[in-house]
Amino acid sequence: MSQDTEVSLETVCVQGGYRPQNGEPRQVPIIQSTTFKYDTSEFMGKLFDLEESGYFYTRLQNPTNDHVAGKIAALEGGTAAMLTSSGQAASFYAVFNIASAGDHVVASSAIYGGTYNLFAVTMRRMGISFTFVDPDCSDAELEAAFTPQTKAVFGETIANPALSVFDIERFAKAAHDHGVPLIVDNTFPTPVNCRPFEWGADIVTHSTTKYMDGHGAGVGGCIVDSGNFDWDAHADRFPGLTTPDESYHGVVYTERFGLEGAFITKATAQLMRDFGSIQAPQNAFLLNLGLESLHLRMAQHCRNGLALASFLSGHPKVAWVRYPSLPSDRYFERAQKYLPQGSCGVVSFGVAGGRQAAERFMKNLRLAQIATHVADARTCVLHPANATHRQMNDEELAAAGITPDLVRLSCGIEGTQDLVDDVAQALDAV
Ligand SMILES: *Cc1c(COP(=O)(O)O)cnc(C)c1O
Repeated sequence: MSQDTEVSLETVCVQGGYRPQNGEPRQVPIIQSTTFKYDTSEFMGKLFDLEESGYFYTRLQNPTNDHVAGKIAALEGGTAAMLTSSGQAASFYAVFNIASAGDHVVASSAIYGGTYNLFAVTMRRMGISFTFVDPDCSDAELEAAFTPQTKAVFGETIANPALSVFDIERFAKAAHDHGVPLIVDNTFPTPVNCRPFEWGADIVTHSTTKYMDGHGAGVGGCIVDSGNFDWDAHADRFPGLTTPDESYHGVVYTERFGLEGAFITKATAQLMRDFGSIQAPQNAFLLNLGLESLHLRMAQHCRNGLALASFLSGHPKVAWVRYPSLPSDRYFERAQKYLPQGSCGVVSFGVAGGRQAAERFMKNLRLAQIATHVADARTCVLHPANATHRQMNDEELAAAGITPDLVRLSCGIEGTQDLVDDVAQALDAV
């Protein structure tokens, strides 16, 4: 991987994670095999004891997935990464790897609706409690959110769909002051526009379903470790990483795999083994095709996003617009700091006239299509209060930064003027 860190991000997008040897396939091979053959059962035993590295069963690891995870690790500037079957699995594993029943996590309230449900409902049922804080809360409120059982802080670089920009540096400092890591969901900017490790984040998660795949072809997720968090310095708080794992013959993850490998190895060896949310190698192959053009696509998503946000912000039938790269946006300054090259292709806005006007507007669109998706090459549009966030009551919606009139427009990579024209005619017809 060392070669991957010496070249530009663009080159890593295209070539990172896989270097064919003499005569080997130029493209990442799809290893469509559940199992791997070995000469002796002694060697197999060593694999099971994590004493040798190698593949034995695709539920835990697969070479195709590892090449693609290696590329994402290089893009984020991390030391280790793993693919998961979905972004949800990535968020779950990232937290559950260090928090169990009785533990507590501080999370930004401006996060993806699925993550909110996972934390507030499902993981709470598993005995893990969450305190949700407004990402722009006061220092005193943030401080008050921590308890002696807190094991992590979680936030989204650009919240889906609130489009607030997370102050990574501030939350990283608060997390580290309490001896816990900061986990950042970096799905929307992708490492092309922001690398949270450079601002102090310790673990990054992705829904690769979004821009990384970029073509709406495969659901997937990824967890990347920066290798920076010193688990041993807070050994009492993270016994799962710093004391023997009896389910693996007493391996101590930090001792055997170092700070650079402990987190991902534990997540693979325990969580993948027991929950099995592996990404199919076929999907990893498709994800890699997406990654090859990520740098080019992100630039066009951002061009279209800014053009649409500018157009909407001057339109009489639009009540408000949110886009972090728009100079009038309340997060513009923070976006300039964390996302100087652009934020993403997603623009949120309110159609004047509220919920019904929003629905009429959406019906009138021709190029932009209604889909429960974002971050796709094709422009799509969604009414979150009616879809992704419909389990939330109005209070929870407000805490997540969502109003009933909010339309989420995910600008694809089509021609900019075509998208502006489409939105213009749909607004005219409202
Ligand atoms: C979509 C999304 C997720 C969940 O990912 P899936 O791949 O759909 O499971 C998590 N975080 C963010 C920011 C998302 O947009």
